[in-house]
Amino acid sequence: MFYLTEQFLSIQGEGKYAGTPSYFLRTGGCNLTCAGFGAKYVVDGEDRVGCDTYFAVDSKFTNLWERVDNSDTLIGNLFDKFDAIGYDPHIVITGGEPLLYYADKVFYALVEAMVDRGILITFETNGTIEIDFEAFPAYKKTMFALSIKLDNSGEAKSKRIRPQAIENIINYSKDSFFKFTIDKPLVDSSAFDEIREITDGFDTDIYCMPVGESRDTIWRNDKAVFEFCVKHNFLYSDRLHIRVFDTTQGV
Ligand code: SF4
Repeated sequence: MFYLTEQFLSIQGEGKYAGTPSYFLRTGGCNLTCAGFGAKYVVDGEDRVGCDTYFAVDSKFTNLWERVDNSDTLIGNLFDKFDAIGYDPHIVITGGEPLLYYADKVFYALVEAMVDRGILITFETNGTIEIDFEAFPAYKKTMFALSIKLDNSGEAKSKRIRPQAIENIINYSKDSFFKFTIDKPLVDSSAFDEIREITDGFDTDIYCMPVGESRDTIWRNDKAVFEFCVKHNFLYSDRLHIRVFDTTQGV
C-alpha cells in the first residue's frame, strides 16, 4: 500500500531532464519536514511552515491522499492514458519521499510494470533511504535525482545525509545526479563546503537550483545561485514550472 497525492502530465521543470514532457506521480509522506524552506500554510487555523510540497508531507493532509492498495488498476489507468496521448512519457516519481515505499509490494509492482514497458523513470529523492538493489532489481533500470538537503532545510545533518544510501544509488542505478536547493544566505555562507563534503569522491553531475515555492522567492535567490554555479563549475537548474505557473499545484 502506498499513498498518491496527485498525478498529472506536465514538463519536468528541474534538474538534468528539465524541459522533458513527463508524467508525475507524487507520493504522500516524508521522513523529513524541512521547515527551513519556509513555505507557510495553515491547517485547522494553525500556522505551519514546511517545504513547497507540504501538502504531500504533512500527515494532516492524509485525508486528501489516494490510498493505492492494488497496482493493477493504477497501471491499467496509466497505460490507457499513455495510449490516449500517443506516447509513453518520462515518469517522475516524486513526493514527499517516494523511496519510503521502495520495498512496498504494490509500489514495486508499479515500478516493474513501467520498467518492463521500457518507460524511463526518475525518482526525486532526498537520498536518505538505502535501497536493496539486489532484492529489488528494477531500480537498477531507473534514474535518481539526489536532492540531498543542506543546512538551510532546517534538518539535523545526521538525519539528512546518509552516505551509504547515496553511494548505493550512484553505484547501482541507471543514472543519477545531485540537485541542491540553495538560497542567497547559504550561497554567502556554507553552500560550497556542504556540497563538496557530500559529493566528494563521486563523478556525478551537480545541479544547484534556487529555493522558491513561488516566482517571488525564486527571484530573490536565482541570481546568487546562478553566479555561484559559474564560480564553482556547477550546473544551474531553474524551476521552470514555478516560473510559468507560480504557486499553482498539479502542473
Ligand atoms: S525531503 Fe523534500 S519533500 Fe521531504 S520535507 Fe524535505 S523538501 Fe519536502
